[in-house]
Amino acid sequence: MSRTLLIVIGILIALIVGMAFYITTMFQEDQDTLYQVSTIQNLSAGGYDGYLTIGEIKKQGDFGIGTFNRLDGEMIVLNGTFYQVKSNGTIYNPPDNEQIPFIMLTYFEADNTTPVKQLNGSDLENSLNNTFPQPNIFYAIKIVGNFTYIKARSVPEQSSPYQNITEVIKNQTIFEFNDINGTIVGFWCPDTVGGLNNPGFHFHFISQNKTDGGHVLEFNVGNATMQLDYTPKFYMDIPT
Ligand SMILES: [Zn+2]
Repeated sequence: MSRTLLIVIGILIALIVGMAFYITTMFQEDQDTLYQVSTIQNLSAGGYDGYLTIGEIKKQGDFGIGTFNRLDGEMIVLNGTFYQVKSNGTIYNPPDNEQIPFIMLTYFEADNTTPVKQLNGSDLENSLNNTFPQPNIFYAIKIVGNFTYIKARSVPEQSSPYQNITEVIKNQTIFEFNDINGTIVGFWCPDTVGGLNNPGFHFHFISQNKTDGGHVLEFNVGNATMQLDYTPKFYMDIPT
């Protein structure tokens, strides 16, 4: 083989390896983005009409929370599967053409993993608040295991003209679960998000057998594993 040919092959290999590295890096960067449809201010004021479908947004992540067209229940996205907890407590897998008015979605990749035992939710939140490595980024939070208690809720489908969320929540359905296995799916938002989202924690729950769930109001961990995914980037589809 001639020396020139070897050099050309060498350059080609370097180019291919470099391109593969570049593509991999781009993909990894995308995974640390929180994708959001609408703002919490818009949703809370009655922006319940969906304007993007699950099919249109599901490539933005495999882990998230949100709600459905006309505020028809609580959404959990876990391992890429969408779950809809209706106000009567039943859980559906919504179709790709379901419209959504609000979602927070990311690709979940744990940056750290901690065992959690016998801890109530507010103590867990306090300890997280004191240990987050950066105060100005988002954190996706996954807690998998056994919960001694979960108090959750869902909301009924609304009809136009819409009332604001404070009025709607007066008609929420409360569910209480004792000694239940499942996953808390949620986020912590930094103070800097302003009216785009609510600073602090927002958790939803889905049971291991996918028969119980909702927006979490209170929880106590029995024996579980908590994972955090540091999420420094934010991308939003604004309301139309
Ligand atoms: Zn919620």
